[in-house]
Amino acid sequence: MRRTRRSGRRSSAAAIAAVCLLALTACADAARPPEEWFPQSAEESAAPGDGRADGKPGTRHAGRTPRALPGGDGTTRKDVARAGGPEAYRRWGLDRPLAAPPTPPASRPVRPGESGLPAVAGRVPTRDKVVFLTIDDGWDKDPELIRMAADLRLPFSMFLSDSAAGGDYGYFEELRRLGNSVHGHTLTHPDLTSLPYAGQRRQICRQQERVAAAFGVRPTLFRPPYGTYDEATLRAAASCGVRAMPLWRADMKAGGLEYRSGDRLRPGDIVLAHFRGPEQQGGRTMTDVVAEFLREVQRQGFTVARLEDYM
Ligand SMILES: [Zn+2]
Repeated sequence: MRRTRRSGRRSSAAAIAAVCLLALTACADAARPPEEWFPQSAEESAAPGDGRADGKPGTRHAGRTPRALPGGDGTTRKDVARAGGPEAYRRWGLDRPLAAPPTPPASRPVRPGESGLPAVAGRVPTRDKVVFLTIDDGWDKDPELIRMAADLRLPFSMFLSDSAAGGDYGYFEELRRLGNSVHGHTLTHPDLTSLPYAGQRRQICRQQERVAAAFGVRPTLFRPPYGTYDEATLRAAASCGVRAMPLWRADMKAGGLEYRSGDRLRPGDIVLAHFRGPEQQGGRTMTDVVAEFLREVQRQGFTVARLEDYM
């Protein structure tokens, strides 16, 4: 398995170099050693409930009734946040509101190359003191996360696998209505480098189509499971309209952020999280883990921006 992934990294490195030469976008990342921005697949693949076909389902919160969000269909994220009150951040253990992100750049710093292949980056080239929150798979569906996202106007991007999230896309639709985006993460969460082109294309494109059908919005981003991919992945993703494949530079764990290198956030870092229940996070809920992440973001002088504005 490890050999497969390493060979995937080598072949993908050549493909990315080609993309970067043309796109001049993710080149800063591509120039770094692979360990700095490629995800370490071992942890994610070992984590329970991470969306593998044989993974355990996440917490279903059967005994908890979602608290109704203020407003219904058509209610904007701003309306909902305003209804949450100016002190709503205190409810989530923050000592000040999450700062509004700066005005997004006029054009996205990460763009597909002229070759048409998606750009790949674990970090967006920007000087803005922003980081990007991405949440994967979709096993756990904690209703409190909806309230938190509304209260804090927290932007994030969801990368859903059908095997994990497909049973209840309605939950993710509530998060999407708050202004967050939904993208694909394959049908059944395989290591794509173990599949030929046709198999990869089926995994990627069918899930992009299911997301489009379920949410009414065509996804433009795609994240490969475990962050592993090869040249066939790039071609397959391009064939179904993927413009970029975000990886990550920091991984949100129950014990705090784990960085691919160094010990601090950098401008433009993409942060990986998963929809996981307390049994997979040392007894901590999604909102516990996200709140700890936000306190760390504030402590380091950053705020959270919308990935789709940059990538
Ligand atoms: Zn995943």
